[in-house]
Amino acid sequence: MYSYYIFFFLFSISWTTALLAKPNMIVIMCDDLGYADVGFNGCKDIPTPHIDSIARNGITCTSGYVTYPVCGPSRAGFITSRYPQRFGFERNPQYQPNDPDMGLPREEKTIAELIKTTGYHCGIIGKWHLGAHIPTSHPMKRGFDEFYGHLGGGHFYFPEKLKIRRSQDATDEMESYRTWILKGYEPVPPRKYLTDDFSDEAVAFVERNRDCPFFLFLAYNAPHGPLEATPKYLNRFSHIDEPKRKTYAAMVSAVDDGVGRVLSELEKYKLLENTIVVFLSDNGGITTKSGSSNFPLRGNKGEVWEGGFRVPFAIQWQGVLPKGSVYEYPVSSLDIGTTIVSLSGAEIPQDKPLDGVNLIPFLTGKDKSPPHPSIYLRKYDNNVFAVRNGNEKLVISHKGASPQLFDLEKDISEVNDLAKQRPERVEELENVRKQWNNELIEPTFLGLIHRKGWGKKKKK
Ligand code: CA
Repeated sequence: MYSYYIFFFLFSISWTTALLAKPNMIVIMCDDLGYADVGFNGCKDIPTPHIDSIARNGITCTSGYVTYPVCGPSRAGFITSRYPQRFGFERNPQYQPNDPDMGLPREEKTIAELIKTTGYHCGIIGKWHLGAHIPTSHPMKRGFDEFYGHLGGGHFYFPEKLKIRRSQDATDEMESYRTWILKGYEPVPPRKYLTDDFSDEAVAFVERNRDCPFFLFLAYNAPHGPLEATPKYLNRFSHIDEPKRKTYAAMVSAVDDGVGRVLSELEKYKLLENTIVVFLSDNGGITTKSGSSNFPLRGNKGEVWEGGFRVPFAIQWQGVLPKGSVYEYPVSSLDIGTTIVSLSGAEIPQDKPLDGVNLIPFLTGKDKSPPHPSIYLRKYDNNVFAVRNGNEKLVISHKGASPQLFDLEKDISEVNDLAKQRPERVEELENVRKQWNNELIEPTFLGLIHRKGWGKKKKK
């Protein structure tokens, strides 16, 4: 009996101490990783032991959503903790180094800008994709103290393919894939396979900043195309014959190695109990092109079906969050930033309230209610929507389509449209959707889809 009280007392001290100190946060975001392509979501042919260890030492969120089913707007939502549809970031931006308006609006604050006022050191390693106009849109103009990465929406992985020294000399998205990586504002000569390069930088970031509260956004561009992997990783997948799946698996495996190295670094400096680690993807897999899998979810990157914007999502905070549990209420990438902003004590601008919640009370079980009444999605150009409310989801899948209704608890693959059986719920959710839609604005810039010839160029 006494031992129980002593354990509880010590656990409480550890929990309280962790909450009093400002925790570090590392957000590891993959790019276009499918829902089913990590071990903690059931993947069998791509071992991801290090990524899985985050779920094993923390929580798997089975209904983790992002705010948009493609890269740029999803990242704009994550980085501001606000639905990007509120501020017109509703398309993948064009790569326009001379256009200050092509990217994250200057009026919006990033979570780095918010928490750095409380003493956080903020870094981003990897993909930015929130504007290529260096004087206004560079990450270090948007609250980050450090940047090591690329400004565009993707990148070649092999160093010999990076032929353009200066980021501002690339004239379009595909050219930007060939630029040298920026360290701060300086281009650095290509060094190695890009995923390994980013992992090296992440490990160095932790070592360098281990004595102050830090926020690291480790934004791997893997496994986004082009599909490129080195023999070191390809050789792990002799059991996969399909060429795309094989290379894709190798790319995921490279990320997994990197995640392992970062976690080891935290352990080395005894930072695991003072660091929240989140793993997620920025949108669903593009199964038709990359060999990824969103099973059992319907749809792909770009779509309002679950496969477009419900992603692998795991979070650990050792000593605070329970180990190895599963959380089923919907959570959002919006919550990640709001959590660290809340824990940092930073002030939230009254005129731009955050759309996320501090997840910690929910994940510890202190608050047993669902974190969000609804999860929303709009794609303005296609006039499509999704609203998840409880376990029901309203979908308007294409322009002019009648609303469909799915019960995700019984029908995770969105096969059985219940709109005719539950007309009152369709009406309720239509009202919820319209109310949210009234809070949004139109997109503020033209996107990649408006570039003549976009999508027809071959990646070489
Ligand atoms: Ca993406």
